[in-house]
Amino acid sequence: MVRVCQLHGQLGLLMSVLRMQSQKDLFMKHHNTADGRIKVWLGIRQIMNSTDRLLTETRDTAKELETGIHMHIAEIPYENQLIVETRGVDNGTVTYLEKIKFLQNNLLAAHTVWVNEKEIDCLAKAGVKVSHCPAAAMRMLGFSPIKEMLSAGVCVSLGTDGAPSNNRMSIVDEMYLASLINKGREVFSTGTTNPTALPAETILRMATINGAKSALWDKEIGSLEVGKKADIVVINPSSWSMMPIHDCFCAPRLIPRDMCHFTSNKYKHFQPCLLHEN
Ligand SMILES: [Zn+2]
Repeated sequence: MVRVCQLHGQLGLLMSVLRMQSQKDLFMKHHNTADGRIKVWLGIRQIMNSTDRLLTETRDTAKELETGIHMHIAEIPYENQLIVETRGVDNGTVTYLEKIKFLQNNLLAAHTVWVNEKEIDCLAKAGVKVSHCPAAAMRMLGFSPIKEMLSAGVCVSLGTDGAPSNNRMSIVDEMYLASLINKGREVFSTGTTNPTALPAETILRMATINGAKSALWDKEIGSLEVGKKADIVVINPSSWSMMPIHDCFCAPRLIPRDMCHFTSNKYKHFQPCLLHEN
């Protein structure tokens, strides 16, 4: 029996070494290709199917390669419940990841819905970035404490989540939804309305510079500054869908044909491309 366990342990170690090596090989082959537009990160699906060894090796490998880690964190109540029952902590995933020193500033946590005040503090102190996916939140996950995370200093950006959780995959739609559902959550949690909760300027920051910080790319993109890449979206303010404009930050619903996305290292090399075609 002891022999079988030893063999099983050695096999596990070998598999783990091979798995990490294949990640490193992919990184070496593809990272920073396509003129630096392709970045390779390490990905953990979620804690419920990850061993401690996988988590700590992923953390150490990302540090060695100087790249990021993407992981779904605290998505559903059952996840937290399972972590409490099986990993000996008094709350959920964030508490456990803090315990094993997995929380780092190169970690992008998707969703992060079911977190308490103490855990928000841990995320802020470690510099973890959070990707808020409002459509997925409404479809099945729950309402994340976005306002509280932003107040605590957590960098929160926007995401669409995968296709099964979102049939549109449009970041402009997510901007619109983020603004509304966080005002709705305010009513639910305080019993009164607050139309200034998560204002349009904050949503714009979440979609731009916070997105760039979350992708560990803010030295090059995310804001219009001298020395950064000319990565911009041009919007036609004269189309029917934009009228009337009272405040350019919260203008009426954008539709894709009003937008053009440009990206280039140099302004003279603009390469326009339509964001979507409906
Ligand atoms: Zn997801």
